[in-house]
Amino acid sequence: MRRRQRLPLGRKALVWLFLRTKEILCAADPKSTAEALWKSTGDPRSTRKHRYRREVKATLERMTLGGLCMYCEHNTVHQIEHFWPKSRFPERTFCWWNLLFVCGECNQLKNAKFELDARYEPLLVDPTVDDPAEHLELSPKEGRFLALTEKGENTRAILNRNILIRRRQDAWSGLQGLVVSYARAQASGDARLAEVLEGELCKRPFPALLGFLLRFAELTEPERYIHVDGCLDALRAHRDEIRGWIDACGADAPST
Ligand SMILES: [Zn+2]
Repeated sequence: MRRRQRLPLGRKALVWLFLRTKEILCAADPKSTAEALWKSTGDPRSTRKHRYRREVKATLERMTLGGLCMYCEHNTVHQIEHFWPKSRFPERTFCWWNLLFVCGECNQLKNAKFELDARYEPLLVDPTVDDPAEHLELSPKEGRFLALTEKGENTRAILNRNILIRRRQDAWSGLQGLVVSYARAQASGDARLAEVLEGELCKRPFPALLGFLLRFAELTEPERYIHVDGCLDALRAHRDEIRGWIDACGADAPST
């Protein structure tokens, strides 16, 4: 999971969201009203309502990287997610700041994990508000996230599904091999191959892994995390370029 920047919505779409919120706040039964409004605005037959809902969806999609789920970064996005669940907080159903774009599995798991602390703050990482690196640490060989905070603990449960753990492990080794191949292509003057490999590295599954790889290379015992022959040297030789790729694709590297 990486920090994502919330993009601005058009004025008309914001007004449309605000009016729906007002309607819910004034309703005798906010929960049913919110459910009904949300359902009806997702109906493609209601052209005008659907136009703003489409704008919301398109803007959320631009906030993802390559259409990957904002939580797991593995599955493609499937549905608009209400960070504060609309079943419990119907008045936030049409709040722009409450909407994310995620896969169906994460959406389901997240709703079960949504809790508040004593200050009424969510005990879950919102990638558009929190810096996930402050709450979660990757154990790459295991493919698991470890929790650094209570907020990280609940989020970790969503991200550590068995299938994601296995795929993260595969991706971690594959990523290191690609970095080595990239360095070799550069050393042999094969600019075309280097370009292809750069493209591959930037669109790998779990884009945050590239940021973690760079971070681990700067630790005092990088061999604990980086095991593919030649990868460490390759990372040190091409650190600035790789940092540039991460910045360019919006994949925030965890802070060192
Ligand atoms: Zn997901």
